[in-house]
Amino acid sequence: LLCPLLHGSRKEEKTLAIIKPDGVSSHYTNKIKAVILESGFAIVREKILQLDEGNATYFYSEHSGKSFFPRLITYMTSGPVCLMVLEKVNAVSDWRTLIGPTDARKAKVSHPTSIRAMCGVDLERNCVHGSDSRESAAREIAFFFGDINTGKGDRKHDEL
Ligand code: UDP
Repeated sequence: LLCPLLHGSRKEEKTLAIIKPDGVSSHYTNKIKAVILESGFAIVREKILQLDEGNATYFYSEHSGKSFFPRLITYMTSGPVCLMVLEKVNAVSDWRTLIGPTDARKAKVSHPTSIRAMCGVDLERNCVHGSDSRESAAREIAFFFGDINTGKGDRKHDEL
């Protein structure tokens, strides 16, 4: 029996996943996608993109004043990334749990089965991104994919 009240609390959510340049160049894309699907997410949109300084700077603008920012932009523009829109109940926080802590070196100790532990290198080169809230997810998905239901406003960037 489908009870709308009960099912209302188990709403499908979307989040943005990025396999960062180190993950793509180290050939982790297929392994990470397998983990994503085994964990019950649907990959509803996907594209490979070379970020430029402009869109990387916009994407990480919350960090623009920080000392690590210039390095972060160099890293994120160092090669193609794989962008994916993931969908499932509780997608935003479940994807953050699956990727693990920001510092991949620490993740290898504290969360050894997380994606950052398995595929990341250190605090900067941590292989994957995940939106940190539903609001960030909506903003980030719109930035890279436009309105994913109508296709309107998709900036396309330099899709490979
Ligand atoms: N980062 C870095 N040095 C730091 C903190 C973060 O190079 O001291 C990089 C790292 O690649 C991280 C990204 O900047 O994933 C964004 O940082 P945030 O704190 O938002 O971490 P996240 O939400 O990705 O775990």
